[in-house]
Amino acid sequence: MSCKTILAKEISASYREELKKTIKSREIKPKLVGFLANEDPAAIKYAKFTSKTCEETGIIFELRKCNREELEDQIAKANEDDGIHGIIVYYPVFKNHRDQYLQNTVRSSKDVEGLHNIQFPIKNYIIPCTPLAIVKVLKYIKVYNPVLSHGNRLYGRVITIINRSEIVGRPLAALLANDGGKVYSVDINNIQVFYRGTGLKLKKHEVQDTNLKLEEILPISDVLITGVPTPSYKVPTVLLRDGVVAINFSAFKNFEDNIKEKASIYIPTIGKVTIAMLERNLLRLYDYQLKVN
Ligand code: NAD
Repeated sequence: MSCKTILAKEISASYREELKKTIKSREIKPKLVGFLANEDPAAIKYAKFTSKTCEETGIIFELRKCNREELEDQIAKANEDDGIHGIIVYYPVFKNHRDQYLQNTVRSSKDVEGLHNIQFPIKNYIIPCTPLAIVKVLKYIKVYNPVLSHGNRLYGRVITIINRSEIVGRPLAALLANDGGKVYSVDINNIQVFYRGTGLKLKKHEVQDTNLKLEEILPISDVLITGVPTPSYKVPTVLLRDGVVAINFSAFKNFEDNIKEKASIYIPTIGKVTIAMLERNLLRLYDYQLKVN
């Protein structure tokens, strides 16, 4: 078995060091406020991780727990507070359309998660942090081919993403397809393909519905990224290509125990990279606020 397991801690180390250095040398105190209005174990864990990493890097992090009915007012107050540079809300809150509404109540100049920009992540300054973290992971393990020109570095790669949520799977598929990959985007209902066409003849990706089944795309996928929020969901290793790159961002392990028998690289979690991207976004917003205030 020659699978290499790579931990998020290793991938995020250089970003964390850079953040620490910058914050120390500039003698600044960026402040992030997190709102927790649920009892979701994944959200609580994410909040704890955020607190620990912020402390290490020199960012002030304050966790505010509140009732979900009070959340909108609390966000409005934080929007007006010049001492707060970034706001993160731990989802799910209502588990329905109200969560999308809440995302838009965070002022865009304080939106560290980049959730205002999910429709057009390519054009924006603050890229949604989980998709951005996965791009950084793919660069770290050289799935992005540095010999090719910028914007085409995933040309020739077939990537399957099992998750098409508005905050992770869909913007991620768009980012990877715009960098030249052929991306199969799987959700509970169907499989879509995001692609710039043969020879990358299109400048921007197109999205098409397909009638493909998971059994047909897994054996041809160079990279498989999973984000199914269900403990019982496991991708059958037997269907995977020999040497596949397997990345899981779900709070639950979406791969079977024998994944290392088929994968060349296995990344079991990415949380630490996401938090590093969140902190990077916070610094950008801090600088933006300095300029406009
Ligand atoms: P979500 O519920 O909004 O979306 C889940 C997606 O999975 C949907 O597209 C759904 O159609 C798809 N899905 C569900 N069951 C499926 C099945 N059987 N087959 C195919 N597709 C299926 O969730 P989300 O906000 O995208 O989060 C997903 C997971 O990722 C959660 O466990 C969350 O905690 C985790 N997460 C991790 C990070 C991180 O940085 N590590 C960041 C965000 C979310």
